[in-house]
Amino acid sequence: MPARPERAFVGVGANLGDAQATVRAALQALRGLPQTQWVAGSSLYRSRPVDAVGPDYINAVAELRTALAPHPLLQRLQDIEQAFGRVRSVRNAPRTLDLDLLLYGDRVLHDDTLTLPHPRLHLRAFVLQPLAEIDPRLVLPGHGGLAPWLARAADQGIERIGAA
Ligand code: ADP
Ligand code: MG
Repeated sequence: MPARPERAFVGVGANLGDAQATVRAALQALRGLPQTQWVAGSSLYRSRPVDAVGPDYINAVAELRTALAPHPLLQRLQDIEQAFGRVRSVRNAPRTLDLDLLLYGDRVLHDDTLTLPHPRLHLRAFVLQPLAEIDPRLVLPGHGGLAPWLARAADQGIERIGAA
């Protein structure tokens, strides 16, 4: 059942090893997803871990156009995480690669494996800022425009490093 393609945003984060190289490689992997077109990628950003200790994170966001449904897309993202050797221990533990499905069209859903929009998206400068770079007019289902959330997260200390 080939679905109508939807606009999806994926958040990429890494903070172990050569995190910049990992994020770049993950962006390449997203370009290779089946039934999916690459639309845009943000710059790379550096952020301090939220509610955790450890090295700084490198973050970026990709905009895709995909005919994969949300759950199969999440499964593909988790396959990529596994391929990069992420070790799942406790939540917010340092990780080789974290891929989050931030937005899938204007879809709102919540089940055992997937919540859309991503439940902490509107609170995290390291996703809000790259999202705003790609589309400052983006509207978060249930949360409205990006600007007020960005202002609220302004103290989180995120730094643009440069092009991905
Ligand atoms: P976080 O990314 O919030 O730091 P984790 O990556 O450790 O946390 O959480 C992974 C779990 O979150 C997965 O088991 C996945 O099923 C669930 N999850 C729920 N909604 C999403 C989403 N929108 N994107 C990615 N994972 C999600
Ligand atoms: Mg995640």
